[in-house]
Amino acid sequence: MSLGGHEATGPRSAQSEAEIRRDLAAAYRVIAMKGMDDGIYTHISARLPDGPSGQKRFLLNPFGMSFDEVTAGNLVTVDESGAILDDPHGYGVNAAGFTIHSAVHMARHDAACVLHTHTVAGVAVSSVKEGLLSLNQWSAQFHGAIAYHDYEGIALDLEERERIIADLGALNVLMLRNHGTLVCGRSVAEAVKLALNLERSCKAQVAALSMGLTPDPLPDDIAAHTAGQYARAYDKTEASDSDPEWDAILRQVDRASPGYKN
Ligand SMILES: [Zn+2]
Repeated sequence: MSLGGHEATGPRSAQSEAEIRRDLAAAYRVIAMKGMDDGIYTHISARLPDGPSGQKRFLLNPFGMSFDEVTAGNLVTVDESGAILDDPHGYGVNAAGFTIHSAVHMARHDAACVLHTHTVAGVAVSSVKEGLLSLNQWSAQFHGAIAYHDYEGIALDLEERERIIADLGALNVLMLRNHGTLVCGRSVAEAVKLALNLERSCKAQVAALSMGLTPDPLPDDIAAHTAGQYARAYDKTEASDSDPEWDAILRQVDRASPGYKN
């Protein structure tokens, strides 16, 4: 893998724009369904195939829309600076909010999707010096795979982007201290699955540490072994043309939040 640096190969890297739009709209819907959105803020971005002249293109949510209103057809296409290339409904984007995403996409060509959230559990874990502990199977998958970036204020300035990229390095999960989390995926599906597992890990840590009993983190070698097992499973999925877990998520979105494909 993995979770620390991966190659953009396999069928997923050859997805069509229509497939990427469908998956990204589903990603916004599932993040909303799980209560992991934060009003109209935070973003999930996806890289599109380059334009005819090699132009970099990315999809972003229309500004001002809640995540459960995002559809495949209302996603806005922007370049690496956040300038709009295609916006059929004229919604615009939060270009300032895209700056971190753009920096990650441009520095990390394997990052097809960048997913940033502010969830209560994610912010809570980002607010303690120890960060995420390997307390259970969910969190063991992130063992040795999480980078940390210290809070500097709302991340709008260009110099901080460079520090974020340097802190992320070749890893795929960034704990933004006192702020939230950011994950990179080789596909939208992979980013969503990582984000959901990270959220479960953070919730479980908050629960475990609130009991007043003695936390029992996994030994490093067991946690590392588990992380390797997860990484190989993610690699296998990304290299194949079948992802039953993502298909199940799409069906859930279809039932609970229909219309996302429009
Ligand atoms: Zn944020």
